[in-house]
Amino acid sequence: MRCPYCRHADSRVVDSREADDGQLIRRRRSCPECGKRFTTVEEAVLAVVKRSGVTEPFSRTKIVGGVRKACQGRPVDEDSIALLAQKVEETVRAKGAAEIPSHEVGLAILGPLRDLDEVAYLRFASVYRSFDSLADFEREIETLRAAARARAADAVEAAGRTS
Ligand SMILES: [Zn+2]
Repeated sequence: MRCPYCRHADSRVVDSREADDGQLIRRRRSCPECGKRFTTVEEAVLAVVKRSGVTEPFSRTKIVGGVRKACQGRPVDEDSIALLAQKVEETVRAKGAAEIPSHEVGLAILGPLRDLDEVAYLRFASVYRSFDSLADFEREIETLRAAARARAADAVEAAGRTS
């Protein structure tokens, strides 16, 4: 590994340590030329398999981009989007597989996005599930309404218990 300080072509590992429950290895390196130390992180590449069969490395930045697009004009801040992308990455990495189909990544986005913003969720779901008629939207909206009614009923019941 090249030294980031003096660009010397080599460096020596002085310490290696697991982090994130063994998901990462951090290495402390020392440059024999300038003597400075720096840290590198090693992590297994998680490959996303697209419908076409092409694989690409999992990218949290890509998740953020897709979700941000769905959230355009909605009252959703960047922090919430970053947090959602982190949740998605944790979900897909928790499967422990070296490869994951892209539709599973989409699936991992849908749940937390529904909790974040229902309109953004509908936009995302319409693309992801390729809605092609109003009936598809109606069905999805009815599901959202039913979930909202269930939440409201739970809240009323909880309020009843405390009063
Ligand atoms: Zn150096």
